[in-house]
Amino acid sequence: MNKWTLLCISLFVAMSCREKQAQYGGYHEYPAYQGKDLGLTYTPAASTFRLWSPVAKNVVVHLYRSGTGDNRIETVNMDSQENGLWQARVAKDLNGLFYTFQVETDSLTLDETPGIYAKATGVNGRRAAIIDWNVTHPEGWADDRRPNTVSFHEAVLYEMHIRDYTIHPSAGSRYPGKYLGLTERLTRNPAGEATGLDHLSELGITHVHLLPAFDFRTVNETKLDSPQFNWGYDPQNYNVPEGSYATDPYNPVIRIREFKQMVQALHASGIRVVMDVVYNHTGETEKSNFNLEVPGYYYRHKPDGSWSDAAACGNETASERTMMRKFMIESCLWWVKEYHIDGFRFDLMGIHDIQTMNELTAELMAAEPSLIFYGEGWTAGGSPLPDSLRALKANMTRVDRVAAFSDELRDGLKGSVFDELSTGFVNGSPGAAMSVKFGIVGAVQHPQVNYPEVNYSKNPWAREPWQCINYVSCHDNHTLADKLRISGKGNFSPSDLEKMDLLANGVVLTSQGIPFIHAGEEMMRTKKGDHNSYNKPDSINAIDWTWKSRYKRIVEHYKSLIAQRRAHPSFTMPTASQVRDHLSFLPTPSGVIAYTLDGSVSEDQWKDILVIANTNSTTATLSLPPATRWKVSYDGSTADGTSTKEYSGSVKVASKTLVVCYR
Ligand code: CA
Repeated sequence: MNKWTLLCISLFVAMSCREKQAQYGGYHEYPAYQGKDLGLTYTPAASTFRLWSPVAKNVVVHLYRSGTGDNRIETVNMDSQENGLWQARVAKDLNGLFYTFQVETDSLTLDETPGIYAKATGVNGRRAAIIDWNVTHPEGWADDRRPNTVSFHEAVLYEMHIRDYTIHPSAGSRYPGKYLGLTERLTRNPAGEATGLDHLSELGITHVHLLPAFDFRTVNETKLDSPQFNWGYDPQNYNVPEGSYATDPYNPVIRIREFKQMVQALHASGIRVVMDVVYNHTGETEKSNFNLEVPGYYYRHKPDGSWSDAAACGNETASERTMMRKFMIESCLWWVKEYHIDGFRFDLMGIHDIQTMNELTAELMAAEPSLIFYGEGWTAGGSPLPDSLRALKANMTRVDRVAAFSDELRDGLKGSVFDELSTGFVNGSPGAAMSVKFGIVGAVQHPQVNYPEVNYSKNPWAREPWQCINYVSCHDNHTLADKLRISGKGNFSPSDLEKMDLLANGVVLTSQGIPFIHAGEEMMRTKKGDHNSYNKPDSINAIDWTWKSRYKRIVEHYKSLIAQRRAHPSFTMPTASQVRDHLSFLPTPSGVIAYTLDGSVSEDQWKDILVIANTNSTTATLSLPPATRWKVSYDGSTADGTSTKEYSGSVKVASKTLVVCYR
């Protein structure tokens, strides 16, 4: 071949590159693929591989004997079909093998990827696995039923990290830190008190919310003998369970089966399972599975073409693009149908567009009407997609079936998460009362809430009270006990701290909206003052179950407050108009909030309920309407609801205490 021929070939290749790139005016012009069969379709007779990449000029599937190592068996060429689809069919039984896709564009040969639709992988999620799904079902899986649980507005959520919950020796687990750790019954701490699953049953919560349990990047699954920790907000394979929580991360079936065993055990205990999902960004950027299929397409970009980063993790995904929206919907459906997941918590939901959230929840609810959805109605940075289009807290009235976290109540109760010394209603800032009232009514319009006085939102943002997730702490930032202690600068006694912890969640557990408890709050969980423990060792993050003995009294109060809520529908009114009409704040001195609930609307066995929170360091006395007698349900002295106290004329509320009376 002479140099003129070579030059002609080069020119031809360069021209066809330009033609290929010029084919689309932007990502929105990429043709979409409608089929719901991307990834692998396996039968013993044949495996069909499908991948969408309209910019590819060639795609292959590599078959491997193992999930890792130098053991490639063969490479199969994929055929280009319409609308960017690439397809290959191998007419033999590939069960037990592993595979990767590899995409070549005009300018690049990309790294191998298990593909974004991979549903089983080998260790560290590098290669997808071809498995027989029938062997992933634990015994009795066909009979697994979602517990007959409450409607969304009656839910009580409990947020936990799988490893944290059972990794400490005091958990008494045979599977510390694993999926199976949440399947064990009769586990006890050294004092003989229930831990793990039995503790959850005792508490009486309705839903466990698991921090990321899909396959994430940072924990090296080949080195599980060395201590490693991560929350898991660095997604790698969205449709595969994380390997480090499995007893064997190499065998692709094991993590799937053990995840199902966990769901099955929770369901059998009457508890539903919510997954924390992180579609808003990927752990890798350039070399994420998304980007190894269709470079750039799944992400938002700045005008200069660089990665936009509303997630503050290096990138943000583009839910408004057809194939990203499709991916999110099919991914959630997969977890619901295959793993019997009962709900989703969307990390940085404010990055996702409203249309996607509405289409997603509509499709999911059509498949399973009892699912629940909630998310963070904010971002961690600016996004190129206009605010008005995104599922931000301020736009919640346009998001059909999804709730959002209320930072108003969270910080109103105990001070800003961004300033460790700042205080809220329960720990020294009685002026924060209006932000607390905002949460008590479930973030809906209420005539007695003066919105300009509220810390963050100057308007109600919930259409109905169930759209408001009320909480005082979560995995992010300081634990409640740490925040109270640090903000007190040494001035709060241990007894004060316990009272304030109980008062804070006492307010949460009597408020309208959905209460959310951070695992361990009920036993004064500490992370030793660490406010960002996402990669910290177990010595910071683990639940130490000896706390349950030390704070036995506090745990009993949480149980009693949860039971009280679940027994009385007045605390969980389903509509904003009911809250407006049947929740009335009473005039109170500074540092005290009091309100009544008219039980008639909810057919509550209690005709009227009176809730009083006194944050002052002295007893508060509140006058009551004459000729009424109020019985005490809860007053911070006894936790078991056996109080025989009654009040008429006036009620005395001890310092830093919540009182609930009824008649
Ligand atoms: Ca992993």
